[in-house]
Amino acid sequence: MSYQKYADIIIDISHENLDKTYQYGIPEEFLSTAVIGAPVEVPFGLGNRRINGYIVGLSSEPKLSVDKIKPIHRVMEKDPVIESHLIYLAYWMKETFGGTMIDALKTVMPVKKAVKLKEKRHIILAVSEEEARTLYLEQKKKNNGARVRLLEALLKTEVLDYNEVTEGLNISRSVLRWFEDNGIIRIESRQMYRNPINGQNSGKKPVVLNEKQQYIADQIIDDYSRGNRYTYLIHGVTGSGKTEIYMEVISRVIASGKQVIVLIPEIALTYQTVNRFYERFGERVSILNSRMSDGERYDQSLRAKKGEIDIMIGPRSALFTPFKNLGLIIIDEEHEGSYKSEITPKYHAVDVAIKRAELTGAFVILGSATPSLESYQKGLSGEYKLFTLDKRTKEAALPKIYVVDLREELRQKNRSIFSRKLKDLMEEKLKKNEQIMLFINRRGYSGFVSCRSCGHVIKCSHCDIALTSHIHGKLICHYCGYEEKMPNICQACGSKYIATFGTGTQKVEELVKREFPHARVLRMDTDTTKTKGGYEEILSAFARHEADILVGTQMIVKGHDFPLVSLVGIIAADLSLYAGDFRAAERTFQLLSQAAGRAGRDAVPGEVVIQTYHPEHYSITAAAEGNYRKFFEQEMMFRKLMHYPPAAHILLALITAKDEEEADLAVARGGEVLKEYINNKGLKSRLIGPAPASIAKAKDIYRRVIYIKDGDYNVLVEVKNFFEDFFANSGQFAGCSLQFDFNPMNVY
Ligand code: ADP
Ligand code: ZN
Ligand code: ZN
Repeated sequence: MSYQKYADIIIDISHENLDKTYQYGIPEEFLSTAVIGAPVEVPFGLGNRRINGYIVGLSSEPKLSVDKIKPIHRVMEKDPVIESHLIYLAYWMKETFGGTMIDALKTVMPVKKAVKLKEKRHIILAVSEEEARTLYLEQKKKNNGARVRLLEALLKTEVLDYNEVTEGLNISRSVLRWFEDNGIIRIESRQMYRNPINGQNSGKKPVVLNEKQQYIADQIIDDYSRGNRYTYLIHGVTGSGKTEIYMEVISRVIASGKQVIVLIPEIALTYQTVNRFYERFGERVSILNSRMSDGERYDQSLRAKKGEIDIMIGPRSALFTPFKNLGLIIIDEEHEGSYKSEITPKYHAVDVAIKRAELTGAFVILGSATPSLESYQKGLSGEYKLFTLDKRTKEAALPKIYVVDLREELRQKNRSIFSRKLKDLMEEKLKKNEQIMLFINRRGYSGFVSCRSCGHVIKCSHCDIALTSHIHGKLICHYCGYEEKMPNICQACGSKYIATFGTGTQKVEELVKREFPHARVLRMDTDTTKTKGGYEEILSAFARHEADILVGTQMIVKGHDFPLVSLVGIIAADLSLYAGDFRAAERTFQLLSQAAGRAGRDAVPGEVVIQTYHPEHYSITAAAEGNYRKFFEQEMMFRKLMHYPPAAHILLALITAKDEEEADLAVARGGEVLKEYINNKGLKSRLIGPAPASIAKAKDIYRRVIYIKDGDYNVLVEVKNFFEDFFANSGQFAGCSLQFDFNPMNVY
């Protein structure tokens, strides 16, 4: 017997078995209900035992001879099992972002691994709160940093996780022994169901929202209670009280019996942040993070599925927490690059959150001090509801910002990397025993060429993106492949001070030590933070004032609060401005805004020096003025002019191969067939490239790119499907692999 349609079914939802599907025939009566994600009952094995499975694929062709294919026994309708939503979500992700169904399933399904219950050690306060407070004041007077930190934490929560204390708070064993010997704490081990957050709900009263916060929370809750579902964007500077609004809305959503997912970038997922949620919501909160083992993560999914928790906090992957009754997804710092997956399917958490909310009747809140252009545009167009908070809740004075023109420094014969202004301020702060952060904007830096006399940067005339220098004095555009020779003199002013731009953190550290031999300097970059905990160690050493100056990459501008930092120096704001991709100005604006926000958090007023060759560039002036709107408008003009997102959509096809010739052939042939396809179909898509990727070779693999732009996302999905099929079926590209990225956030 043959069937009109066949279904691929997974039987066992465990991570190892996701790629094993079985094909069944769909009897006529189920043709309309047998959709992707549907739970089914099928005969299995020799005895045709009835077991449950899920449909993950549909086709009209049998993979075996038809008499070997069994029919689906039953499609279970309206079974609200969580797997159905997630399987459908996986299918949607595969369609929307590329890759295989298995890639997508592995992204949305929690890892199933047999796990043993773990012994956990805790530190428990063994004296009264009074006594602890007295002790705290005593130790504070004596300046016993470590003891003060532990007492502070214990005064907030009486039970602490041992590792959080030793690693998170950086407290040594000998300090703990002193506490134990004096009967102030007990250290206990107990077997427990793994709850990664330890401590107790202090029952602390929530803050009273100010008028603006209350208005926003009320609007959102009002929509929610009326059954209206929207996506909200809260644009508010750091410290403007967004998190308090989230918590207010969360408490209403969980009071209605639903659950909540809160996404926070991994780097901001600190003890302090999580603890705020814990203090308010207690045991019903859990977290996921990358330091947890697969087993620990699986435990947490299981707890969510069983209904033991209401709130899951975590990075991108927490989006797939299997809550049965999801009500709300919050994405804090929604502009962060880490919300875009770097592995296939290369999805963006914001898009997936909105889709998941749509499937489950939930809604989404996005928050940021510097929203992505994509989100802000949707806020303005009304696709999202936009709220703005423009004041900090605590009236900390905003820092004073100086923009220094490096061309002028050169004219004044100052060849040092420190401008006169920065040097003067550094001396002043060191004298006052205050702290300094020096920040090098190096992310995505790829060797652009500029003139040190006039600041002119050599750009691609087709793409308006900085060309990057390669060996043999070649300058290349990584979007379209345009090439030219490195000129000897500046095309704009004739100066011969023209060179590849670049300063490393190590170099800066060296120069700081030379200029300020008495200052204590710490450096933080990918080299010094390789070890586990290296990042926390450096930051907490700096927080303890064990150094006067912290030199680092963008890592240092996030997360931590340093009350003694009164000066932030940005050595070369331009570095990220010409990073070779269309988001360079946006990233620069975000980084500068964040860096500026680091200075003067508390009593000490802050100053910021931005050194640049382009003091007039809007990403720099807007950041210096704290004017998001100005930045947005300028940047949107550029995106519209050049058809970059969000004015249009971009599809990147990345072709990689071990053999250089093969990579070149494949990308050239790929370019041809794509051009043909676009012409034959009469599409308006623009093809850019082929070109070598900006990282043209990595780990002996050659990398080539093609970009396709179109105003309509769905057209790009069609182009992707066509190219995927062509690539898989042509038989010519066995040695190559192909990946897609929609609206990429990385430099390829
Ligand atoms: P954001 O999430 O925008 O950075 P937060 O919600 O973390 O801002 O608020 C910054 C600080 O101000 C926090 O310490 C918070 O507890 C406090 N805060 C926020 N709103 C209020 C309020 N209405 N009353 C008192 N303190 C508040
Ligand atoms: Zn010049
Ligand atoms: Zn170009």
